[in-house]
Amino acid sequence: MSDAADFAALPKLELHLHHEGAAPPEFIRRLAGEKKVDLGGIFDERGHYAYEDFWHFLKVYEAATEVLKTPEDYARLTTAVLEESAASGVIYTETFLSPDFCGGRDLGAWKEYLHAIREAADKAERDMGIVMRGVVTCIRHFGPDKAKETALCAAETHGDWITGFGIAGDEKASNPKDFAWSFDMCREAGLQLTAHAGEWGGPQSIKDALDDLKVTRIGHGVRAIEDLELVDRLAEEGIVLEVCPGSNVALGLYPNTQCHPIEMLRERGVKLTVSTDDPPFFHSTMAKEYEALHRAFGWDEEIFGQIAQTALDAAFCDAATKEKLAKRLEIRA
Ligand SMILES: [Zn+2]
Repeated sequence: MSDAADFAALPKLELHLHHEGAAPPEFIRRLAGEKKVDLGGIFDERGHYAYEDFWHFLKVYEAATEVLKTPEDYARLTTAVLEESAASGVIYTETFLSPDFCGGRDLGAWKEYLHAIREAADKAERDMGIVMRGVVTCIRHFGPDKAKETALCAAETHGDWITGFGIAGDEKASNPKDFAWSFDMCREAGLQLTAHAGEWGGPQSIKDALDDLKVTRIGHGVRAIEDLELVDRLAEEGIVLEVCPGSNVALGLYPNTQCHPIEMLRERGVKLTVSTDDPPFFHSTMAKEYEALHRAFGWDEEIFGQIAQTALDAAFCDAATKEKLAKRLEIRA
């Protein structure tokens, strides 16, 4: 494997993608133009999203979502996001959807957004072969009460398409246990669970997510490396990390891919997957993530095959969908 086309050709499963965060900037600009909305200075002179640090990134992210106001906007967003993912070799993607942005946590409105998103996703599957499922995500810095409303939207729409519940946003706002009610309720409704932790919070934030929210996957989780006992616990319990190396480097958590702990975590037996998080914000794609890992650690087709298999096992979709995806991985092997 040497050029970009080789990395794009590998079949990939992505488990950690924020739907709005994956919006191509040109799509947001077009929508803003159509709606005559002035987004202010959220783009740099080359047209990319511009931000200073993680907290400013959250602000720019929320500003960009200002133009996404209707179910139709989200249908168009879905098509734009899935086109990018499919071009990068992604055959399955779980995207984080927030009723906070889709209808202000009103169940009726949320269902309309969901219907529009699903229609666009079904069309993308027919046209491009990419399969999408939704993980409803509450926003930590909006607080536990709003999270309960989000969780209710998730539980009410749980099925073969909305398959999981998670939490994103500023890891330093509120404790995981403040959200335990929402996670317990979603677990009882049959949803599978993931939580962002161990990105801006240290190892303790990962322990809290495991102990208080009882998740089977952790979004990021890379700072487990600061506590080797925790690393061993993750390996023993088979907790899957949704690792987003390009995001961590772009936001300054690590200076470059070589310094990223993903290889140390893998060597110590932690189950890992690779995702982009908010790709256009970090000038990333799944193919670029693979290429960077190949260059930094010599990851080859065999290791990428293991990563895809781990993602398939950890995916929140049903067995029939997994079987279809497994065939597509086998064809490649
Ligand atoms: Zn994330």
